[in-house]
Amino acid sequence: MSSHEEVLEFLPWFVNGTLNEREQSMVNDHLQGCRECNEEVKVLLETSKLFHASPEPSPDLFGQARSEFLQQLQGRRERRANWARRWMIPATMAACLVVAVLIVSPVSRQEESFGTLGNSASSSGHVIQLVFQPDTPEKSIRSLVLGDQGHIISGPTAQGVYRLELPLDKDPQWVLERLRNHPDVQFAELEASP
Ligand SMILES: [Zn+2]
Repeated sequence: MSSHEEVLEFLPWFVNGTLNEREQSMVNDHLQGCRECNEEVKVLLETSKLFHASPEPSPDLFGQARSEFLQQLQGRRERRANWARRWMIPATMAACLVVAVLIVSPVSRQEESFGTLGNSASSSGHVIQLVFQPDTPEKSIRSLVLGDQGHIISGPTAQGVYRLELPLDKDPQWVLERLRNHPDVQFAELEASP
């Protein structure tokens, strides 16, 4: 006859059914007369039920989240690439523009808030940053800007960035589209609202 301790160690395998025939019948025999082992079997069965009932933490869940994240990243990269292709800006130029925007933004935001405090009650607060093609004549720049009835509040910076403030009644997205489709405009981007 096998000892109680010995059987106790077998019980987890007894419950998940991985004992061989001999071990199984040994445990069965012991269970006929041992209350403690019966209790242990009950507990093990409950635990095993709980374990199987809970949604399994499938490795796919993590894989899925990760692949979604990568897709988003990829999408962002593609959009950026399209943007560069669309405006046919060489990579170095694009880098310059990013730097220009970074340099201009903190200063301009400050100017903007001063402006709001002061005079420009009729302005929408929407500011577009513009870069014209290098050989664009002054006249074209002026007519483009006046065509939108906006006014240049600063620029050009050393990088050629103008800041154009739009009047209240202009839809900034519409103006932006129009400017971007204009052959003299190399770059147009809406400044984030303050
Ligand atoms: Zn026992």
